[in-house]
Amino acid sequence: MYLYNSATHKKAPFVTHTPGRVEMYTCGPTVYHFAHIGNLRSYIMEDVLEKLLRYEGLEVNRVMNITDVGHLSSDADTGEDKMLMGAKREHKSVMEIAQFYTDAFFADCRKLNIKTPDTVQPATGLIPEFIEMVQGLLDKGYAYVAGGNVYFDTSKLRRYHIFFDHDESDLQVGVREGVEEDGNKRNKNDFVLWFTKSKFEDQALKWDSPWGVGYPGWHIECSAISLKYNGEYLDLHCGGIDNAFPHHTNEIAQSESYLGHPWCPQWFHVHHLVTPEGKMSKSKGKALILTTLEEEGYDPLSYRFFCLQSHYRKALVFTWENLDNAQGAYRKLIARAAALKPGDGPVDEAVLKAQREKFLQAVGNDLNTSLGITAVYDALKLPANDATKLAVLDDFDRVLGLDLTKKAAAKRAEDAKAAASTDASGFTVTGEGDPAIDALVLRRAEAKKAKNFAEADRIRDDLRARGIELTDTPTGTTWKTRS
Ligand code: AMP
Ligand code: ZN
Repeated sequence: MYLYNSATHKKAPFVTHTPGRVEMYTCGPTVYHFAHIGNLRSYIMEDVLEKLLRYEGLEVNRVMNITDVGHLSSDADTGEDKMLMGAKREHKSVMEIAQFYTDAFFADCRKLNIKTPDTVQPATGLIPEFIEMVQGLLDKGYAYVAGGNVYFDTSKLRRYHIFFDHDESDLQVGVREGVEEDGNKRNKNDFVLWFTKSKFEDQALKWDSPWGVGYPGWHIECSAISLKYNGEYLDLHCGGIDNAFPHHTNEIAQSESYLGHPWCPQWFHVHHLVTPEGKMSKSKGKALILTTLEEEGYDPLSYRFFCLQSHYRKALVFTWENLDNAQGAYRKLIARAAALKPGDGPVDEAVLKAQREKFLQAVGNDLNTSLGITAVYDALKLPANDATKLAVLDDFDRVLGLDLTKKAAAKRAEDAKAAASTDASGFTVTGEGDPAIDALVLRRAEAKKAKNFAEADRIRDDLRARGIELTDTPTGTTWKTRS
């Protein structure tokens, strides 16, 4: 499998520190608001990556943080505290906001078939570990105390800014709202590890520390959480492209300085979902959420399909028209899978194996998910029986997560029900969804048509004895259970 690595700016074979096992870390959501569909693009693509690694037979340990403290609106050390902004907006406590939006995030993930990572750690649950890491950095001379806060000293590093291939605009993200200069910093890029003095006097969450009562900086949480659950050697770190700088740069600085050895060789960054007007962003009030898509009649998995049609290293333009096209294509695909007959013979294992290899070559080339979808269309055209085609679709779906065969089976059942309850002349039975009753009601209609009134009455009486009432209408019959 080949992956592009933002740290080396090259596509290279994916290797791990321990053969056969992947230590994977993902920057989780800041839970001060609903995740917007741009955030969810990142989580969908990271989910496909995790599933691909497992599909390849690798053991994966995936860890994610929940940012419920310390993230300021600039991504650096300026701007407002995002969690406090959320609490003020909704007149709730920070922890109530965190719980509500964490639950909302995982509800979205379930709808999008995004698997929950093996470990999910809210930052507020690991304060002693953060303090230990900050103390370690101070002890090793990589940090200093100034004005009550603890800062990382970037002048002690041999190398900083390792993701230099990003656009200037990406690098600007960290300082976009950084109008205020922090006079305590010795170097421009130094960043806060622990806050005790800040403008947030109303900060609700504070903990005791060797440097006074305060709270951690955002960057330290990911380094410390990964160290605890992934160990000293991380194989793969994921996040959206805006996380590359300063967040990931600072994570590398802290982790490598603390550990005294290289930390994570492989970095995976998902590019942004944009609108024709620009980046989708919560702070600019231009953010769409999954619930809005559902309210507009879209299946969340149509959005997943939409994301999979594009490469993760390109910006993806969201318009309603683009989403319509994706939903149309997704529905057609389900209809084609529904037209296949399950169990029409044995599954051809040789075909399945060859298809697997083809799929791995396609998607395993830097997570080319659109080629993965092409492989699904190709599988539908295979010179093989339907059972084999369905087995291939099922297999690919372990990575794509589009519920292809599940939705096809549901559509088949729905179509069969509709067919069972409508006769050739369009006579329709409407009831409570029991195909056996629908069939009896249809038999009664046929008996009436053939003037076999005795049989028609017998069926009606029989149904009545079972507590079912029939009402004849001009276009058919409706039935319901007597209450
Ligand atoms: P946040 O909740 O702001 O910490 O962001 C959660 C994740 O979404 C991070 O990995 C971000 O890099 C990513 N992200 C933010 N905006 C977008 C966007 N417009 N498109 C794709 N990913 C994004
Ligand atoms: Zn992070």
